[in-house]
Amino acid sequence: MFHKNSDSTAIENRLSNIYRMFEIKNISEVDLTENPVIAQMSQYNHEELLFCNDNETGLKAIIAVHNTVLGPALGGTRVWNYNNEMEALNDVLRLSRGMTYKNSLAGLNLGGGKAVIIGDSRKIKSEALMRRFGKFVNSLGGNYITAEDVGINPQDMVYVNYETQHVVGLPGKSGDPSPVTARGVYMGMKAAAKAQFGTDSLAGRKIAVQGVGHVGEYLVQSLVKEGADVYVTDIYEPTLQRVAKEYGVKVVGLDEIYDVDMDIYAPCALGATVNDETLSRLKCSIISGAANNQLKNEAVHGKMVMDKGIIYAPDFALNAGGVINCYSEVAGLSAEWALAKADDIYGTISEIIKRSQSEQVPTYQIANRMAEERIEQVGKVKLPR
Ligand code: NAD
Repeated sequence: MFHKNSDSTAIENRLSNIYRMFEIKNISEVDLTENPVIAQMSQYNHEELLFCNDNETGLKAIIAVHNTVLGPALGGTRVWNYNNEMEALNDVLRLSRGMTYKNSLAGLNLGGGKAVIIGDSRKIKSEALMRRFGKFVNSLGGNYITAEDVGINPQDMVYVNYETQHVVGLPGKSGDPSPVTARGVYMGMKAAAKAQFGTDSLAGRKIAVQGVGHVGEYLVQSLVKEGADVYVTDIYEPTLQRVAKEYGVKVVGLDEIYDVDMDIYAPCALGATVNDETLSRLKCSIISGAANNQLKNEAVHGKMVMDKGIIYAPDFALNAGGVINCYSEVAGLSAEWALAKADDIYGTISEIIKRSQSEQVPTYQIANRMAEERIEQVGKVKLPR
């Protein structure tokens, strides 16, 4: 484990770490059979990996700390039935790096990390296993702060909290992040509208919301309040019908949503819905929603979207309300602070679009660059924790 100290060597190490952060090693040059772990870490300069095993409880987990220049690494714990350890390792490395970018771009004093627990969440979880996992989180001394992700529920996190303070999103604390996430998506959507239509008013705009779950429903509420013409779809019929009735919005079929004559497509359910097939059908001029990993292939579809004149508000910039809400708990800030901070997403999206249009570079690439710039600039002036 890498322990930081406050002498000048630590400062030098930290600075050289920042400079190396974006230096990508060519993994194909390394024999992954013989070097499956540190070689992979070095590809995107991950700081630390903790492999966790406990035979008593059956816990098998990996915690990845990608970068702590801006602050402790925050990211959720995912329980997933990976086919093998390499799959789990790849996922935790990819997701923890994504958290570094998301947290940086949101302007938070947080680095990026993630944890994965290997196994079927319906079968392996127990109080003992979650508490054992909490002990591992605690062993990192606050370098990693955990939260809920796929396969984890609030009670699981209560068990984790019995063994460590380094956990957020507990019942009775910062609470459901969805209203804050929806607020950020709504503000970012307005910023995209300003760039595309010259006004950020969404009144009269045709907006199709895919998925009216936690975030989608709050978003629909704001859009209807502003006078938008909203279309919704969801695989869960009871919620769909309730939302349609409650807000007076139109229901469209699961596949039909891609053909709606719309101004804005708001994916709030699944990833990878922006792909070759849907892009040949989508008539929107803005894509702006809460779902993670909306572009099936970032390099291909990020460029394709730009070439079609569609403004894509990068998902990790737009849906940062969730981590903003977590940060409010870490830093002891209020729910009002979190909502106000989510409003800053308007400015972030405006800046991303401005730079994307002037440099003719896809928005997701500009967003990555802005996240890297902040880490580099702040890292130069910040003393080690
Ligand atoms: P949720 O599970 O509450 O809602 C998702 C909704 O999508 C559900 O109602 C589900 O039935 C529906 N759905 C699933 N598959 C669908 C399909 N093929 N077509 C249409 N609808 C479908 O999740 P959520 O918390 O509202 O999050 C929505 C998205 O935003 C997810 O991708 C999530 O990762 C992302 N996100 C959420 C937050 C947050 O604060 N909740 C923060 C950041 C990112």
